[in-house]
Amino acid sequence: MSSDTIAAIASGLTPSGIGIIRVSGQEAVLSVNSIFEGKDLREEKHRGLFYGHIKADGNVIDEVIVLVMRSPKSYTGEDVCEIQCHGGPFVMQKILKAVLDTGVRPAEPGEFTKRAFLSGRLDLAQAEAVMDIIRAENEKAAVISAKQISGDLSEEIRFIRKTILNDTARIEASLDDPEHLSLDGFQEDFFPRLEDTIKKLGSLADSFEEGRILTEGIKTVILGKPNVGKSSIMNRLLGEERAIVTEYAGTTRDVIEENLRMSGFSLKLVDTAGIHDTDEPVEKIGIEKASAQAKEADLLFFVADSSDDFSEEDEEILSFLSGEELKDKKVIVLLNKSDLVQRTDAEFLRIKTGFPVFVISAKEAQGIEEIKKYISELFMSGKIGDDSQMIITNVRHQQLLKEAAEHLKYVKKSMEDGMPEDFYTIDLMAAYEALGKITGETAGEDLVNEIFSKFCMGK
Ligand code: GDP
Repeated sequence: MSSDTIAAIASGLTPSGIGIIRVSGQEAVLSVNSIFEGKDLREEKHRGLFYGHIKADGNVIDEVIVLVMRSPKSYTGEDVCEIQCHGGPFVMQKILKAVLDTGVRPAEPGEFTKRAFLSGRLDLAQAEAVMDIIRAENEKAAVISAKQISGDLSEEIRFIRKTILNDTARIEASLDDPEHLSLDGFQEDFFPRLEDTIKKLGSLADSFEEGRILTEGIKTVILGKPNVGKSSIMNRLLGEERAIVTEYAGTTRDVIEENLRMSGFSLKLVDTAGIHDTDEPVEKIGIEKASAQAKEADLLFFVADSSDDFSEEDEEILSFLSGEELKDKKVIVLLNKSDLVQRTDAEFLRIKTGFPVFVISAKEAQGIEEIKKYISELFMSGKIGDDSQMIITNVRHQQLLKEAAEHLKYVKKSMEDGMPEDFYTIDLMAAYEALGKITGETAGEDLVNEIFSKFCMGK
């Protein structure tokens, strides 16, 4: 573990009430003490909070409060000083420079949390959750990250690893000493446990889809022929004039993406050029993008114009939506322009499409709240709203869970094929290794460095 002392601005670089400069390492207290005018910080042996001034070159830079946290009871596990100054970017930078001038090194992104990991204060999954909570954009995402920081996922992984290790040890021991340790009856005992573990890993890996929706938002693609009101609906949902709305067909040339924060989660809205056959090159690109986006969407809006007949273009979009590639997607039909004389009927569309139909007017803001409520129920029902459910939000964790499950499936197959027990242990240990990478027990230095390099400055 490196013992040099590091410093960084830990708060945002925008004018705000308080700014924090964090210093961690063996020399942290000495360094800050040498530029601090107030009490002698070196006398603090545990934790303390000190009022005073930061001085450099004989001049007062700012009035501050310094928090001293002695090792091991600090975030990094090392001696830590946090200087709370006034939250001006210029003054924070001046104080950081004064700290660095005492011989302290600037911290790399994520280096404080990396030190917390290396000193055993946090495991890797917990450290990753620290970053997730900083990035959390809504209530649910924050709740999941907070649970992961407190070690819920890590505990589950450790339990599974321990089970695997116990079984491997039992097999190995009896192979080493078959006379004294028999494996009679082991298989009957082991098989259901193995199946149970495979199931557990599978459902944890599957929970990533929900986790992704919670952290990244419900990816929603708006489809419809030109001029049905896609941009207008998007603006209505967002409550602001974001996408450009014009009178002419085919103005939404490219893909526009916007985030809409709803109660508990967010909607990532993608407006695309209308899907219809065209020879115009720019439009064509838009259409291709629309199809590509639709395949990755969690939710699709099919917008039709109620003041017009359901046309051939609408039929084409409907057949695209009903196609094999999109068959598992959630689709909602938005029958727009209800403020005008009606030519297409909602009931007709409901029967024709088989999807739920909402009659709305983007112009008069009719039916917009109903759409939001419906989406909320559609995605919040089931596991997502249930806080007791363990949900993973990290694709790295998902891959490792799947990898571990695969290895255990090989064990199962070896058993079913009547292979001798020594065949099992290699795959059992491979699963054990994969799971250890989640919590960091078996993660190599490169992986650790890569993970922390994605962190933000001062964390
Ligand atoms: P897009 O091409 O599907 O994105 O459609 P736009 O949002 O650009 O809308 C096309 C035209 O329809 C514009 O003139 C809008 O003002 C108009 N429009 C959109 N929604 C409504 C609505 O609910 N009622 C009425 N009367 N006009 C609308």
